[in-house]
Amino acid sequence: VKGVEADQEVRTQPSRFPSPLKASLSSNYPRLYSILQQNKERPHYDRPLSSRHELEDKVPWLASQPLHQLSLADLVKHGRPPLSAEALLSSARFTLSLLPIRLAHRIQALRNLPYIVVSNPNISRIYNNYQHSLSTLLPWQGKTISSLDDEIKFTQVLAELVQTHTDTIPILAKGFIECRKYISPREVTRFLDEHLRARIGTRLVAEQHIALHYSSTPHFDPEASPTPCPEPETHPSYIGVIDTALRPASVIDSCGGFVADICELNYGVRPEWVVDGEPDATFAFVPMHLEYIVTELLKNAFRATVENGMSREPVVVTIAPEPASSAASAATPGVYSDCPTKNSKAHGIIPLHDHAPGVTIRIRDRGGGINPAVLPHIWGYSFTTFNEADDDEPPGAWGEEAMGLISTTGVGGSTIAGLGYGLPLSRAYAEYFGGGIAVQSLYGWGTDVYLRLKGVGKIEY
Ligand code: ADP
Ligand code: MG
Repeated sequence: VKGVEADQEVRTQPSRFPSPLKASLSSNYPRLYSILQQNKERPHYDRPLSSRHELEDKVPWLASQPLHQLSLADLVKHGRPPLSAEALLSSARFTLSLLPIRLAHRIQALRNLPYIVVSNPNISRIYNNYQHSLSTLLPWQGKTISSLDDEIKFTQVLAELVQTHTDTIPILAKGFIECRKYISPREVTRFLDEHLRARIGTRLVAEQHIALHYSSTPHFDPEASPTPCPEPETHPSYIGVIDTALRPASVIDSCGGFVADICELNYGVRPEWVVDGEPDATFAFVPMHLEYIVTELLKNAFRATVENGMSREPVVVTIAPEPASSAASAATPGVYSDCPTKNSKAHGIIPLHDHAPGVTIRIRDRGGGINPAVLPHIWGYSFTTFNEADDDEPPGAWGEEAMGLISTTGVGGSTIAGLGYGLPLSRAYAEYFGGGIAVQSLYGWGTDVYLRLKGVGKIEY
């Protein structure tokens, strides 16, 4: 295995992954995963996967290491794609330095749950997934990723890791509903809040490297043709999974269309929405995260609107970019990289003058607001007022109805409501990079939801 010095070598080294990453990373992910599933070729390691004994040995030690607080700036610090070979290797090493510690922390947290809870088949399935993923990374520890050959193998391990954990949330949700006799809603919320927030970061670290890999190396399908395809058609404003010019209004419109389709299926009604404020505002953020949050908030707004018989009143989405010169943005720490890499020269300084440092999105519906008796519970995982079993029941319940709605394909999937994960998980995504969500109910009239997001700020690469 030879070391890599020049940018040129990245371009001539073929990727073992057959598919080029096209314009939208998020929408191409399912394809990437299905390709990986078909890919019979498994990476081979210098030594066999770690034994249970080795895991027992390593987990407590790794879990005692401090967690690195991930920032959006961490994710862009290797520069704009196509990355030089050195920058790609450095991104791989950075990823490897974070993941085993992050996985070990999760394994330790699962071990700290009551034994009867961890013994539940769904919870133990997740526990085993984490142990498996850590064991695929342990052979990489202590060796330096110093060639593109290593980097390709490592990226494949990452892709498998991301794939292994795709269905974690519905499986955990099911497990905790089955265990509700043995663990209180408060304890479940505390565990899930920590677990799901940590999961956001872990997936992002892995997905960022995978995306940088794809947008930096040429691709070809070794079975179809031994000749490399032309350069992958990447979106110029993307750095890995981050869009440096993300336009919230476009995300609102595409997610609105999707949620309106679900409403049509569920209720036979297609609610409308309008976007006002500054629809042309753009900022630097992770599109997958914004898509998740907006979809969940629009599901809630549309459902309330339809159930309140107000389908003719459009949901009003107001986009308010943070002024570039605002004191708040100047005071935002951690969004600038502290150490420009060697690439700064190659890629130049790309200041984001035209993009807002952050955006607030207000989603206003005429859905009748939220019953004050329900309001204190809306942030609890599995709390929902959807499909209430009986009118004698208190308004809202923990998950009884969710059992039938948990699909294995995602969180809530194409159902309008019922898992009770929409608000708490959206808040976890918003807060991950220093934003937030506030719900203001005007009971008897409607609800305003304020989604505040901070962008990456100026990117000096
Ligand atoms: P789910 O939608 O699966 O019930 P969520 O976490 O998204 O779970 O929401 C929890 C509860 O909060 C909902 O069941 C509903 O009672 C209430 N809620 C959320 N948003 C709204 C809204 N815009 N209008 C009225 N009620 C809402
Ligand atoms: Mg919801």
